[in-house]
Amino acid sequence: MSHQRVEQPASGSASEPLQYKFADLIADPVVRDRWEQVRRYFFLRESTYDMTRRCNIRCNGCYYYEGEKQHAVENSDLEQWRRLMQAEKARGITFVVLAGAEPSLVPERCQVCFDEIPLGAIATNGLKRIPGEIGYRLHISVWGDDETSYRTRGAKEMLVRQTDNYRSDPRAIFVYTFTPDNIDQAETVTRLLAREGCQVTFNMFSAPVGYTGDLRHTPNSLSRTRQAMLDLMVRYPQTVVYSRYNAVAHTHRLGLHDLYGCSYPRRNPSTDVGLGRSFRQYRTDLGWDREAACCVPDTDCSDCRHYAAGSAVVTARLFRHATDPDTFRSWLDYVDTYLAVWVRDYPRGANLSQNLVSPPGFDLI
Ligand code: SF4
Repeated sequence: MSHQRVEQPASGSASEPLQYKFADLIADPVVRDRWEQVRRYFFLRESTYDMTRRCNIRCNGCYYYEGEKQHAVENSDLEQWRRLMQAEKARGITFVVLAGAEPSLVPERCQVCFDEIPLGAIATNGLKRIPGEIGYRLHISVWGDDETSYRTRGAKEMLVRQTDNYRSDPRAIFVYTFTPDNIDQAETVTRLLAREGCQVTFNMFSAPVGYTGDLRHTPNSLSRTRQAMLDLMVRYPQTVVYSRYNAVAHTHRLGLHDLYGCSYPRRNPSTDVGLGRSFRQYRTDLGWDREAACCVPDTDCSDCRHYAAGSAVVTARLFRHATDPDTFRSWLDYVDTYLAVWVRDYPRGANLSQNLVSPPGFDLI
């Protein structure tokens, strides 16, 4: 989720003459309207919170059960959670991401957060319904069809139970995480979600530090995943919330940090205005550690293609994308997608770019 100060567009006064001024890039009224729409959300400032150490399933490659944070003592005092949220609001946090282990197991804590900071999202496995009074966007994780979910997550009939809980719920969006193992299942799952009237967006498995399992992507699986994403966008335009540039950025042979430079504190020593200063990742004991803070702690940075990371890292790089109309449109599509995924009731528009655009300074793959 983006919440760092967005780089400003070039003024045209750099030593190398620019082919396009920013005014040229927004000359098309459709593009200008989209720019005006997304910039209204630049006020979002995110932090993330582990709500509980408990989970009702155990997934292969789960990054919660890596590193130190899983050992933090769990604070169940609702007044302390309320005071934390009030302090967060006071220091400028406007958007919270509640994660885990599994937040649906502690709905009373989620409710306290919602009462204090009403913009946010919850990452959940969707097996236990989160009460409707908690009006955050809900990200329901899907790792393949039911057979694969059983094998990698140890839970039976996940899709049936998830869709039973969240069919017709405007808070919900399903997040399909591509692994090398489940690329061919994405069509079946998307078709089922389309039939149920649900929305889906895409994530990439990003290996935790020290991961030795078999879900790490390869050049071949990255390329197959990109093609699957592009096909599904065309076949299920009402269901899939994604853009071509999302597909390029997240299935590149290089991870997000190498392509764009990660701005989260874990990789960014700067405490100037931006994520390096404002972002915190709270553990279940309500403590936080700047050295470890990012939206997906304990992920191996060189393998980080996570959708949550990209929504901050790519979005912050406006300047690099304000070079030509198609690159700028692609960036706008990316920002529009992330806002639709993260902000409830955000009015998403049609993608503006129909082309595959390279990350600035890199090849397409
Ligand atoms: S894991 Fe990803 S989001 Fe976290 S610090 Fe590394 S590159 Fe940044």
